[in-house]
Amino acid sequence: MNHEVKVLAIQSEPSCGCINWMDHWEKATNGKRVTCSNVLCYSEDISAKLVVDERGNQMVIPLCEDCASQSGYLEVAETQVSAHKLPSCNISSFVQMDKSK
Ligand SMILES: [Zn+2]
Ligand SMILES: [Zn+2]
Repeated sequence: MNHEVKVLAIQSEPSCGCINWMDHWEKATNGKRVTCSNVLCYSEDISAKLVVDERGNQMVIPLCEDCASQSGYLEVAETQVSAHKLPSCNISSFVQMDKSK
């Protein structure tokens, strides 16, 4: 099922201890997304953005710069995670895990 989200004009930094929103998103989903979450877009040049969903919840979702600069609602695949602190925020980031190998 797809969702409609709106990219927030002000992209604050995460306060949950994650390095950035992509870090937050990857830890929460335990994976990487390779294309933009917009169902009509296949760009691979993506970063995680703060968005608000239909119910006003702040969510994090990977988008390309083009889609992230749209002011209207975007139809996106179900890839969003909450922008609130999640249990997954406590695990060390993938970036640090890569360095320790
Ligand atoms: Zn986090
Ligand atoms: Zn896109």
